[in-house]
Amino acid sequence: MGSAVPGTLAPDIHRSVNIANSELQSSILAALQRYWPNGAVPIKTLPIPRCSVPDREPLPPLLTRVKLPEWASDLAPSIGLPVPAYAVVDSAGPVWSCTDWWQVAFWYLNGTAERAFEAAHGPIHSYSYRLDGWDPSVWECAWVNRIALFLRRWSARQHQADETELLGALPEVEIAVTHDVDAVTKTPSIRFKQSAFQGFNGIRKLAQGSFCGAQVKFRQAARFLFSGSDYWLFDHIATMEERHGLRSCFNVYGGRGGWLRSPKHILFDPSYNVARSDLSRTLKELALRGWQIGVHQSFDAWRDSELMAAERQHVERALEQSVTTCRQHWLRFSWKQTWAAQQQAGFKLDSTLGFNDRPGFRCGAALRFRPLAPGAKAGLEAVPMVLMDSHLYDYLALESAERYREMQRWLDEVRFVRGQATVIWHTHVLATDYGWSDGFAELLRLLDRGNS
Ligand SMILES: [Zn+2]
Repeated sequence: MGSAVPGTLAPDIHRSVNIANSELQSSILAALQRYWPNGAVPIKTLPIPRCSVPDREPLPPLLTRVKLPEWASDLAPSIGLPVPAYAVVDSAGPVWSCTDWWQVAFWYLNGTAERAFEAAHGPIHSYSYRLDGWDPSVWECAWVNRIALFLRRWSARQHQADETELLGALPEVEIAVTHDVDAVTKTPSIRFKQSAFQGFNGIRKLAQGSFCGAQVKFRQAARFLFSGSDYWLFDHIATMEERHGLRSCFNVYGGRGGWLRSPKHILFDPSYNVARSDLSRTLKELALRGWQIGVHQSFDAWRDSELMAAERQHVERALEQSVTTCRQHWLRFSWKQTWAAQQQAGFKLDSTLGFNDRPGFRCGAALRFRPLAPGAKAGLEAVPMVLMDSHLYDYLALESAERYREMQRWLDEVRFVRGQATVIWHTHVLATDYGWSDGFAELLRLLDRGNS
């Protein structure tokens, strides 16, 4: 990305990140530059009005829907593209021509509303349910990418030129499969945690009067407690992926594992040590064969750059290679602190930005971009996580056909907008205890079809 993206911004100003209009336009043009490889001039000169931003960000976000003109009607639903109401300026003409698209794109990509919420209430980490009363339509599509496609088309019309000739070809779709390695063996703590969790769900089902549902949960609890399921699934995953010509990324824990930790860490963090010889050997072999390795920072590391750096170094030493990509365990994330800490710890790419409790585009984008982290030097990039195994199996609890449609729906959106995104499938959920292997096979088929 170009040097126009500001890297150092005052941390205390309202809404954490607030930048001048010209800077805002440059930052969006740079963030979306893959949509105009021939140069941004025809986009920059579009007659887009500038809105004024209110002193206080309305929360929950106050949205309005902007219908796109007929020549771009395929880029937004018929009810229109959701934008913050203040981005529409009061002037003559159709609403789409009175909308400050720079501000809209920035509002999404910068997470302006979430940053304001975090400043008032603290981080939600990655639970969308904490954003009570928010219109979920902001997470339903990659709106920023759709705006980029709209601006391309508008610009070609303005110049009466062929869109591809004027701005260059559309970018390639990039959907990366990633595995957060939370467990490599079935430890006593996993047996206890998972059986207690499923037992609790069973009791909840009973209380709701669902005897069948309770029975299923109690059976799962017993399976977690007693079965000898194998959680060492690296070869299995590699073989499945190779069949589809795909190489994923394994994010591995950089703590020391074991029992000499506080009960909280034993409960919430993975228990393995990446320096274990069979594990480091397997990961090194995978890396040699083209798989990527990232760091999966521990539960408490989300704002602790020193802890992150120590975990990164532990993974690097064990694998004898530089590791600069990451995702926070449990998607623990603060807009204000996590990216800044990651940058300080030497990371170059983070894929934490997504929700634990629903699929979707948390910043309205399927785009690898440079976040505006207050107080941090430019360098780190972020790529959103749009879909995860537990969305499908735990939160939505879908049957096979629905699950397939749900996966297709999110992947199709990324493809439609020629976006960049990541998907999580945990390694241990391919074990028979969970039985989420079929879903992974479906995901690989969907990706294979889309990329061929
Ligand atoms: Zn994790």
